[in-house]
Amino acid sequence: MAKALKVVDAHAHLGKCCVFDLASTEEALLARMDESGIDATIVQPYPGAKNAAETHDRIAELCAKYPERFFGLASVSPHGDRQAYHREVERCVRALHFVGVKLHTIGHGVNPLSEDGQYVFSTAAELGIPVMVHTGPGMPFALPSLCIPAAQKHPDLKIILAHAGFAVFSAEAQVAASVCRNLYLETSWCIGEDIRWMISTIGTDRVMMGSDLPSNVPVEVAKYKALNLDREVYDQVMGGNAIEVFNLPMQGEYVHTARGAQSQAGL
Ligand SMILES: [Zn+2]
Repeated sequence: MAKALKVVDAHAHLGKCCVFDLASTEEALLARMDESGIDATIVQPYPGAKNAAETHDRIAELCAKYPERFFGLASVSPHGDRQAYHREVERCVRALHFVGVKLHTIGHGVNPLSEDGQYVFSTAAELGIPVMVHTGPGMPFALPSLCIPAAQKHPDLKIILAHAGFAVFSAEAQVAASVCRNLYLETSWCIGEDIRWMISTIGTDRVMMGSDLPSNVPVEVAKYKALNLDREVYDQVMGGNAIEVFNLPMQGEYVHTARGAQSQAGL
């Protein structure tokens, strides 16, 4: 039984999605985490949630029920009333203790260069939380390089490129991250060897594992395992970096077993 650092899935959704016709339940998330040895998951609403605030509450309930296993990330369209947007994101951070906010380039139709897109970045900078941006499918808004201006305007803001360009634009995501030290790459749906390439090019501290969908959890974990990374690097990209970037309040030692991870805190 090998002791390891915690494994974190940086990108998952709860609820229903009327944009992509998807749905994820609490039970599905937990089952996949146990099956694949995931200690903690960062959960956000789908961009096609009928009511983002209700889904935020549902995520908060999940986080309260399973402390240190789930963390919330806000996702709401910035195209509506600006004060209402700010109020909801602030509520998620201050009252629900969420750890970040999403800018959904395709699901919410947000150009990172637009006024509403820039408002997402400035709101996050003000609240002191990272922004996760969907990249890949959904061009031109979803091109990774469109996050470079925001990263340069807010040098202390951490911006995570979700899907790291989604294979087709992974090289561009890597170039963007090479230009801006505050850009991070979450690699769901990427090609395994591209992940190795990203780690070797931009460093071991800015790449992180994410699944996006419950059925994709074992696939993404298998991808990283297949790369045969050094143990220290593996621990960083499989959890350490997400804990650091999202400032996850996680404590206790975890021991990985065949069935998954069990908290050993206090034993
Ligand atoms: Zn997603």
